Order: sequence, then C-alpha cells, then structure tokens
Amino acid sequence: MDRLAPFASPDGLDPQLQTFLEEASAQLCRWFGSANQRSPLPSLRLLPHAFPETEGLGAQHLLDDLQQVMDGAYQPSHPGALAHLDPPPNTASIAAELICAGLNNNLLAEELSPSLSQLERQLCGWFASRLDLPEGAGGVAASGGTLSNLTALVTARHSLGLDAVSNAVVLTSDDAHVSLAKACRVMGLHADGLRRIPVDGHGCLRVDVLQQELNNLATEQRPCLAIVATAGTTVRGAIDPLRAIAKMAKTHGTWLHVDGAIGAVFALSEKTRSLVDGSGEADSITVNPQKLLGIAKTSSLLLVRDVSKLEAAFGTGLPYMEPAAFGAHGGEMGLQGSRPAEILKLWLGLRQLGMEGIHSLLFNALARRERLQRCLDDQALDVRSGPLHLLSCAPKNADCDSSERWSAQLRQRLLDEQIMVSRPQYQGLHHIKMVLGNPHTSNALIDHLGMCINQSIARSEH
Ligand SMILES: *Cc1c(COP(=O)(O)O)cnc(C)c1O
Repeated sequence: MDRLAPFASPDGLDPQLQTFLEEASAQLCRWFGSANQRSPLPSLRLLPHAFPETEGLGAQHLLDDLQQVMDGAYQPSHPGALAHLDPPPNTASIAAELICAGLNNNLLAEELSPSLSQLERQLCGWFASRLDLPEGAGGVAASGGTLSNLTALVTARHSLGLDAVSNAVVLTSDDAHVSLAKACRVMGLHADGLRRIPVDGHGCLRVDVLQQELNNLATEQRPCLAIVATAGTTVRGAIDPLRAIAKMAKTHGTWLHVDGAIGAVFALSEKTRSLVDGSGEADSITVNPQKLLGIAKTSSLLLVRDVSKLEAAFGTGLPYMEPAAFGAHGGEMGLQGSRPAEILKLWLGLRQLGMEGIHSLLFNALARRERLQRCLDDQALDVRSGPLHLLSCAPKNADCDSSERWSAQLRQRLLDEQIMVSRPQYQGLHHIKMVLGNPHTSNALIDHLGMCINQSIARSEH
C-alpha cells in the first residue's frame, strides 16, 4: 500500500486510499485500547520532522510518524484524566470528523454545503428550544466557546446601536471565563470596559453589587453593552442566578449573554434542566458540546434569541455566492468565513447517544462529583463546588505559598499514579481541581483520589 495518490480518485474506488484510512483507524483504535496502560500526560519525547522532505513519504512512513505524535499526545480516555474540561471523544463524533474532512464542504455558504447548512440550522434551532428560547431563535456553530462569546458580544453591541461607542461596558463576575477579557480587547473597549462583579460564597455573581454597578454606569453615562452571566464557572461550576440577572438586564435595556460553555448542556435532560432555569430569558447563550458531551473538538454553538441579529451584525452581502435558500448563509452569521462542517459530529454524536445516553452522561458526571465531595475531609479542606461536575479544593487556612507547594506536590504525587488533576489559582490560592466528566473514572478511583487528597493535608500538617 506504499504508493499513495495525493487525492482520492473520482473514477473508482482506490484500494490504496481505503487501506490507508483503515490502517490509520486501526492505529487510533489501538491508541484508545491502550489508554489505561500509560499516563494521561506522557513525558515529552522526540517527534518526527515537522517539515516536508524533498520527496514525499509513503503510506507506512506516514503512519509511523503519526504513531510517534500519538505516543506523545495527551490521553483524554485514561480513567485518571480529570484535570480539565476535555473528556474522551464520543465515538460517532470521531467517525463524523473523518467524514467531515472527506466531504470538505464549507459552511460559509449554502451552495458549498447544502445538506450540512440545513443540518446546522435545524440543530441550532433544537438546542435553542431545549434552552427555552422562543420561536425565532437560532444560532451558528463556531470553533470554540471563546469565539462564541466574542460573537455574542459583537452582536449585542450592534443590536444596541453601540458600535461606535468605545466607552461601553460589559459586566460579568470575578469568576467568569478569560475569553471575555479577550473579547473586550478585540472589540477595542476601554481598559476598564470589562467590569467584574464579586461572587458570593457559592461562586455566584452578586446581584446586589450588579445593581449598584448598573446604577454607577448610569451616573457615569456609560452604556452597558451586555451583562454576561455564567452557567458553570471554570474553577467550581457555579451557576449565576439567571432569572434575577435577566430581570435587571431587561429593566436596564441591556443584553444578557449566558456563557453556558460548561453548564448549558444540562438543559438537554428533563431531570437536570432545572439547574439552568432561566436560560430562556437570555438574548444569547454559548453551548460547548465539546466539553461534557464529549463531541470531538471543536464543537461550540452560539444561540441567539432573535437569530436575525446575527446577520444584522455580521452580514456583508457575500457578493460572490448565490443567495441562500433559507435564512442567511453561515458565513454571514459570525466572524468565521470558511468553516468546517463541525455540525456533522455533533449531530451524529447526539444521535448515537439518544436522550437517554445524554441524560446518563450528565447524571453520572454529577454523581461522580458528589461521591468525591463525600470522600473529602471538609474539616481540613475548603471545598469549592457548585451544582455541576467540577470540584476544587485547598487546605483550610492555607496561604499563597503553602497552597502553591501543597498543590504542586499533590499534583505530582497523583501523576505518579496516573491521575491527572489541575491546580488553578482561585481567590489568591492554588487549588486542586477535578472535572468529573470522564465516563471511564471508576468509583474506586474516586475513593482513592479522595483518600490521597485527605492524606496530603494530614502530611503537610506534620
Ligand atoms: C471552556 C470555556 C470557554 C471557552 O471555550 P473554548 O472552547 O475553550 O474556547 C468559555 N467559557 C467557559 C465558562 C468555559 O468553561
């Protein structure tokens, strides 16, 4: 199979191509199958050359090189991979990613992706209705939540007629995601254009301070272009009080964006949807199926209460394309031009799971977090967790230096046992953070992890 044509033959089935794809798939399956034998975080190793040789390589050489890169890759399918919001990839979404590359359609315009553009429109509409947005809501897929959040804020600004008002302000909580700071910089807002509202003891935005801040802005004659509420904060999974914030946004005539990159998927199950109650009051919502649902990266949607606002903010007329048969071209609804058909893996992945499979993913993640929380010694630890599947903790009465030492030692000790956790800085202290979204993590592993964390405190006290 060594000679490989650079493009698939249009005239008949190419056996070289088929063998190559089969071999590459087999290699991937072996990588999954051996996940448990190695650490989630492999040590750095030699890589193949990064650049093309004078002569192109044959199929076997390509596969060998691929293997080397795979051996050095982070392994999300390891049961001890608990550090971040990066779960194992859903199986159907892997196949869909391959097909997506093969189809090479472009979600820029309908004529370059007729079936897929329609699928994107329908699936965004479905997500919008699950999140209680009204008729007329819709959305667009973007390559990641960072881009969805930026798209939301640009849409908000345009919709409020504030495009030329550079002293406009975005209000969000201290615990909101870093992508909002990026968005405000890209949008050219003033350095104080992102104002942070403190959180309460549960990590939720304090609405009393939000009200004061809105009053302050009115006094300063600075317009608020959006309030961003977070449904699932990055360190502890807190959910801001969406209904109360929505009410203030309405009274104040501003836009409510809900950053639901972590939490919005909980609206998909009847049994967990009350966690994000009030999401339907939002003007826009970011959803990241690439996180807990495990759709292969990237998979993010921006949903908008009135979908026509996206085209109003981003439409250019796209003069070199035939008009779209339904609604707007995908490329007229956001920042990206050419876009891969990321919707394909989301669609196929959700179809594979079914509503029951989606529910178990969400429910089991919550159960794992509850189990870990029960294991932890809350006399010795400050445990920071919300209603979702994330948990962070630090020793009680720690200071900056001691929490840094403790978390570094504990992370290494756990890595030696092939358990990977992260150590975010939160409220001035290093924490150990676990995201319990990995379906391979057993109860025994959770109990052992809890014991290791408890022991690390007992030890550092000596
Ligand atoms: C992950 C995350 C984002 C950013 O999403 P990316 O896909 O990493 O760009 C935004 N907000 C929150 C709350 C997140 O957890």
